[in-house]
Amino acid sequence: MTKERLCQTCGKPYQSKKITHLFCSRRCFKRSYYLRNRAIILEERRNPKRPLKTCLVCGTLCLLPFDPITNPRAYNDWQCHNCRATNDLIWRWQNSPNSFQVIMQELRTVQVVFSFSATYITKTPY
Ligand SMILES: [Zn+2]
Ligand SMILES: [Zn+2]
Repeated sequence: MTKERLCQTCGKPYQSKKITHLFCSRRCFKRSYYLRNRAIILEERRNPKRPLKTCLVCGTLCLLPFDPITNPRAYNDWQCHNCRATNDLIWRWQNSPNSFQVIMQELRTVQVVFSFSATYITKTPY
């Protein structure tokens, strides 16, 4: 069963065979992907020294806010905004046979400490 729909990218009518077909062509599908991720793609183009990094623990795409070549220390301290894994943590455990479990275990502890200090951060002057 085909149904005439309007392409979500270019607005042209097309014959859709499936309910999940939202675009008239592969090109319009790609364009839609670009539009959705435009902010991060443009930021990467404007500043190629800020590479994208895929978190080794959870697979989230993160934009590095520094240059890892001139600032290796910041790279060690880098933390995934999704699961809070740091490069330092991953490297410390990457040779362990059950590194993934160890990292997850470590992250649970980190998260407890993190939420604890976040509660008291306004009351504790540094
Ligand atoms: Zn289209
Ligand atoms: Zn992560």
